[in-house]
Amino acid sequence: MSKVLVIGCGGVASVAIAKICQRDDIFSHLCIASRTLSKCDAMKEKWQKQTKTEISTAKIDANSKEQVIALIRQFNPDILLHLGMPYHNIILMQACAECKVHYIDTAAYEPENTNEPVWRQEYEKRCKEKGFVAYFDYTEQWSYNQAFKDAGVTALLGGGFDPGVTNVFVAYAKKHYFDRIDYVDILDCNGGDHGYPFATNFNTEINLREVSSPADYYENGKWVGVPAMSIKREYDFPEIGTKDMYLLHHEEIESLTKNFPEIKRMRFYMTFGQSYLTHMKCLENVGMLQSTPVKYGEHEIIPIQFLKSMMPDPSSLGERTIGKTNIGCIFTGYKDGKLKHLYIYNVCDHQESYQEVGSQAISYTTGVPAMICAALISKGIWKGAGTFNLEEFDPDPFMEMLNNNGLPWKVVDNPVLVD
Ligand code: NDP
Repeated sequence: MSKVLVIGCGGVASVAIAKICQRDDIFSHLCIASRTLSKCDAMKEKWQKQTKTEISTAKIDANSKEQVIALIRQFNPDILLHLGMPYHNIILMQACAECKVHYIDTAAYEPENTNEPVWRQEYEKRCKEKGFVAYFDYTEQWSYNQAFKDAGVTALLGGGFDPGVTNVFVAYAKKHYFDRIDYVDILDCNGGDHGYPFATNFNTEINLREVSSPADYYENGKWVGVPAMSIKREYDFPEIGTKDMYLLHHEEIESLTKNFPEIKRMRFYMTFGQSYLTHMKCLENVGMLQSTPVKYGEHEIIPIQFLKSMMPDPSSLGERTIGKTNIGCIFTGYKDGKLKHLYIYNVCDHQESYQEVGSQAISYTTGVPAMICAALISKGIWKGAGTFNLEEFDPDPFMEMLNNNGLPWKVVDNPVLVD
């Protein structure tokens, strides 16, 4: 049995918390912490009656390492599950290494202000050396490998669906279906409809920063950069139908091509509707996606944070979202000398997720794997000192837990390939 400290009580956290409470055979204690204590208390109120896991709450600002360390010392968790903002990954990792607590997150580190001069200099160096221009990457988090080794605990990076489950799909395909994988396309389709002309299905700020930044893919040992939304394909997704999808940079490409250097090309596609793209372009053109502070009258505001405050809260979309998601990987490679194509994917229904835990499928598909990561570390099934991405551990127990905890997957031979 283990004790988990969850940072955040938003959309993804609310699912992970529900799932932790369902698994009171694994988690004896849960502390929910964010800046808004009332939200954490409401979450406790919702789940405490239905679980033997003992729930407590705390107010915390993850910008303060002192506050994080004080809370860790008070609650004494085995695992810290970070489901807040990726801006805080480094502070939380430092606190975990210092206090010898396992660390899990679901998104790679990026700074809040991408024009901050010291960070900017490092970023520009990285763009030149590595060749990709996304604001998020693993360099800084991986640099804590030795600190976690010395502390004898695990830092598991990117434990949501994508990154997360997609990394495990690659490890599983390699373990069971391929001697060599040459090509991987990761396809993320949200076929859901929430009825709003414009809303994001996870944290608005992070979502818009990710989608509006220049895109790239990995080919023959190099990153190939292209303008945002400039590569579009149509794909007929199982159980959903035909959707437009666009090439994006995504963090699992960085770790997977490092851990499986045989892969010649890896691309990531996500579906978007025309209304979303038109709204995003218009907001970008008028400067509303900026993350650098600007003066408005007497006040300093960050345009993208102001925009977030005007938009629907992604965690409130559950009730009104219908349809399904389909996220998976298409592989081309060789087994016993023969060319082989394979598709591994999960389909998740927004309304079924809402009926079970009160959240839409994007939060569900991220929160469930986060709980599974915590469970596998807690049971000592995934074990190691240092920083890890999910593909570095045995995929089988994770895949089994996906099937048993609400995210069953399918393996299909000879799928239609993306050209
Ligand atoms: P939300 O905006 O719903 O939740 C963010 C949470 O962070 C809130 O509960 C907020 O609480 C908390 N938070 C923000 N700032 C602080 C702070 N300074 N100190 C403590 N807590 C803070 O986001 P989502 O749940 O949609 O997303 C959570 C994470 O999951 C994001 O990093 C996102 O990128 C990632 N994600 C990963 C996916 C994957 O498949 N790998 C898919 C979808 C999302 P409060 O305001 O009370 O502090």
